[in-house]
Amino acid sequence: MDQLRFDGRVAIVTGAGGGLGKAYALLLASRGAKVVINDLGGGRDGSGKSTFADNVVQEIKSKGGIAVADYHSVVEGEKIIKTAIDNFGRIDILINNAGILRDKSFGKMTEQDWDLVHAVHLKGAFKTTQAAWEIFRKQKYGRVVMTSSNAGLFGNFGQANYSAAKMGLVGLANTLAIEGAKYNIKVNTIVPTAASRLTEDILPPEMFQAMKPDLIAPVVAYMVHESFPDSGIIIDSTLGYATKTHLVRSSGTPLRKKPTDLVTIETVKEAWPQVVNMKNAYHLDKIAEVTVDLVEKLQDFEEQSRLDSEK
Ligand code: NAD
Repeated sequence: MDQLRFDGRVAIVTGAGGGLGKAYALLLASRGAKVVINDLGGGRDGSGKSTFADNVVQEIKSKGGIAVADYHSVVEGEKIIKTAIDNFGRIDILINNAGILRDKSFGKMTEQDWDLVHAVHLKGAFKTTQAAWEIFRKQKYGRVVMTSSNAGLFGNFGQANYSAAKMGLVGLANTLAIEGAKYNIKVNTIVPTAASRLTEDILPPEMFQAMKPDLIAPVVAYMVHESFPDSGIIIDSTLGYATKTHLVRSSGTPLRKKPTDLVTIETVKEAWPQVVNMKNAYHLDKIAEVTVDLVEKLQDFEEQSRLDSEK
């Protein structure tokens, strides 16, 4: 296969001073992209700031690549987009990767723990993506990746703030994929698991060694390549493996015997094993399909009831 390249493309990677973002930035730059290395340079809880994004810029330049540092917080997303435009004149790719943790069991979580995590993950992605959106629309091209987490998809003890923000990013990507479709803007979500300062005290040491961000970077790079076919999907990747995750729903069941019967708490209880039976679960691709699907089920139920009453 021909090498997949990013010549002429300008990419912003937020939180690219270390961890996964650094791996994404190095790979994109090595394949010809001009890259904005955004990083506030704070601690893992979001405190402080520094210029460690410079180290990544230096590494890229030492290998013959092109990059510039940006130290703004993602909550000032428009300034990060301006850095790309001022330095490189355009923007094609936005990887929303910046993140912090403020883990606490829910009862002990302060409003500040909640707000800061939401500000960086969810509002930060909103601010950067909205600032880039008009540019993407006008040029009829854009590739966006949101970064979610299994903590969001499945929940995780002590991460209520982080889980909620990470699931919020899935919702944001779902809608932006719809709104961006006619402008060739593709918006997808990566769910990574990798060794970084966020996971050094969570992953067992032998797993930590093996879970290199470099194994995920090619997945994300393909997701922001012009040839990437999908939009609005969730890809989970770790250890050189990738899978797609999507929502399914059960085939469900009527909550009454006939359309003229009442739905009561008792009929709901009676029907419950069928409501939650996932044996014939299926995926719906679009919100329009969700409503149509329920209307069709209702029509089938009414038709069956009519036939039964004629027997
Ligand atoms: P990391 O701490 O190495 O990288 C996050 C970077 O974001 C840091 O360099 C940090 O300085 C930067 N950052 C924080 N707040 C910022 C702000 N306001 N503006 C700009 N930059 C900011 O951790 P990582 O593991 O590489 O995490 C990258 C992303 O992947 C995060 O969104 C994280 O939630 C997500 N994630 C990671 C894992 C994992 O296993 N490592 C799992 C699920 C999700």
